[in-house]
Amino acid sequence: MKRIQTIAGMKAEARAQSAAGRTIGLVPTMGALHEGHLSLVRECRRSTALTVVSIFVNPLQFGPGEDYRVYPRNVERDAALLEKEGVDVLFLPDAAEMYPSGFQTTVEVARLQEHLCGASRPGHFKGVATVVLKLLNIVRPDVAFFGQKDAQQAVVVQRLAADLNLDVAVRIMPIIREPGGLALSSRNAYLSADERQAAAVLSRSLAEAQRTFEGGERRAAAITARVREVIAGEARARIDYVEAVGWPDLGRVDSIDRDTLVAIAVTIGKTRLIDNTILGRKE
Ligand code: AMP
Repeated sequence: MKRIQTIAGMKAEARAQSAAGRTIGLVPTMGALHEGHLSLVRECRRSTALTVVSIFVNPLQFGPGEDYRVYPRNVERDAALLEKEGVDVLFLPDAAEMYPSGFQTTVEVARLQEHLCGASRPGHFKGVATVVLKLLNIVRPDVAFFGQKDAQQAVVVQRLAADLNLDVAVRIMPIIREPGGLALSSRNAYLSADERQAAAVLSRSLAEAQRTFEGGERRAAAITARVREVIAGEARARIDYVEAVGWPDLGRVDSIDRDTLVAIAVTIGKTRLIDNTILGRKE
């Protein structure tokens, strides 16, 4: 596995590989890798000739008071995991090179960023869209892989790619969960043993949404009310939002007659966790 730290080095490698006729896949991450990330890496390996994984904790997508400084970082452990998966290139850009002094250009996906996490994390999706566009410009992959775990992020990136005519297919991969249901996340590392148990309420509440839907309920408000009830049963959980929106447009849904995303954000102790499910679909 090649480790590349400079933008010029990454561009040179990617251009050479493209010129040699190899398709390039990119898996953008912030590191602290787990099986969720590795599922994207495996699919990338299966479907493209050159697998590039980036690790970059992007300061632009963290708000003031969020966890940028304490976000888990362990590049050596991550590199060993990626090496084992047969990754070709690990791209480790430097924040000072990504955002040199004088940097001032950002992109925003106007409407998709308004709801869900965009409402509680102002500026977050501007930071995401901007860094992803930069990574796509540097690597110029044929395919980029994102997780449904961050469903809003994934559709923001799909919209960005479509609206700006980028030559990349954006693929959204299923959520990988622990056996107890908890969606894998780098932020799970913040949870105490006790909080980790409490965090199981997120996936439990979404399973209840699926059951309610399969039982014939079609009113979005009734389904989100059930989800709220389940979460309220866990004393350590505080709801940020529970929403049912159209998938993948995130538009308003009253009566569920098409693919509908039930998305939740819940704080357990000091840790904000997100999870979601698409009604009627099995993960
Ligand atoms: P992150 O390092 O948290 O920015 O995540 C990098 C990529 O991995 C994103 O596209 C995430 O959606 C995806 N990802 C994170 N957790 C999971 C999971 N549990 N299952 C599938 N994909 C995930």
